[in-house]
Amino acid sequence: MKPVNSLLAQTGTTIFTTMSALAAQYGAVNLGQGFPDGDGPVDVVRAAAEALLDRRNQYPPLSGLPELKMAVAAANARFYGLKIDPQAGVCVTSGATEALTACLMALINPGDEVVLIEPLYDTYLPVVRLLGGVPRLVRLSPPDWALPRAEFAAAFGPKTKLLLLNSPMNPTGKLFTPDDLDFIADQLCAHDVYAVCDEVYEHLVFGGMAHVPLMTRPGMAERCLRIGSAGKTFSLTGWKVGYVSGPPALIGPVAKAHQNLTFTTPPNLQRAVALGLAKSDAYFTGLADEMRAKRDRLEAGLRRLGFATLPAGGSYFITADFSALGFTGDDVAFCQRMVTQAKVAAIPVSAFYAADPPRHYVRFAFCKQDEVLDEALRRLGAWLATKPLTGGP
Ligand code: PMP
Ligand code: GLN
Repeated sequence: MKPVNSLLAQTGTTIFTTMSALAAQYGAVNLGQGFPDGDGPVDVVRAAAEALLDRRNQYPPLSGLPELKMAVAAANARFYGLKIDPQAGVCVTSGATEALTACLMALINPGDEVVLIEPLYDTYLPVVRLLGGVPRLVRLSPPDWALPRAEFAAAFGPKTKLLLLNSPMNPTGKLFTPDDLDFIADQLCAHDVYAVCDEVYEHLVFGGMAHVPLMTRPGMAERCLRIGSAGKTFSLTGWKVGYVSGPPALIGPVAKAHQNLTFTTPPNLQRAVALGLAKSDAYFTGLADEMRAKRDRLEAGLRRLGFATLPAGGSYFITADFSALGFTGDDVAFCQRMVTQAKVAAIPVSAFYAADPPRHYVRFAFCKQDEVLDEALRRLGAWLATKPLTGGP
């Protein structure tokens, strides 16, 4: 039989699925895959349930229900002062995952170069490659994950079509500063390049810092496609409702890609998300405050146990260096031992690199009930007390 698609044949099952399966197999506390263990705001969930019962269950409009598109445009104005056309400037998708693929499909022709920042989220590289894009990777280095400006500028050339920028960033929790964003914007203008901005963690930002979309910087409104996720904003990751905001000239091709991917997104969920986006400021600040307290709780606990944690300004995740614990194996081996022996799951950070990754960092998700975080720390403490790590892999 003839071979299947060669790029997909090389793509493994995601590390998130792998680690969640191991967590289930070993009865581990799952601080691997990033999903909250609560159930999201009850009014939003109820709105989705009620919307199933009023006979509007057929295909909604291709680019999204008008009420959700209006709510997305209004949220852009309310949180960032961005002017988005609620009709032609928004496309609703089945999760940010679909939004990312639709945006990349909308922009990439085979041979176009795409600037990506490592460590990177796992869908970026395979999709860029499937579309015939040529990745140009720029690497941030721990512990501060600063943007190496000269290297970044050198990644742009006449063939560069777009930059894929994730802020707040998974897995590092880094937020690109306004100064970084101005520098990035200058490169995009100088080289006539677009940006796909993965901002799914836009409302999970801590410590008085504000999320600043690249799209707010001068000259960027025409060049950026900004992606949000109801899954993250309402702690309902299974819903898979995403939204892309941008200039009509770019949203048009995104909608054409969406028409060939999923065509539409469940109408009841769209209606509930529209209600959610109109919630009071107290909801959004409350979500960030709650998540910040969880970050602080896990960070303090990991430090007490001897991990060196890296600063995390946003997202669901904190990165921890396990070198000081005396283990000489790599991050994959560390996570294997941790899930099988301590019964705590985390994600090896090397999974977020194309090649030659650092091998002594793990990513912990803190978007869990306090008791769950405490139980994970208790298990890790008991495990480490048995000195399980001396002697390497
Ligand atoms: N981008 C990043 C950086 C993510 O962490 C995730 C996590 N799920 C996604 C996109 C996908 O979001 P969604 O669940 O809305 O598809
Ligand atoms: N975004 C989630 C994470 O980084 C995982 C989503 C998935 O499993 N694809 O953990």
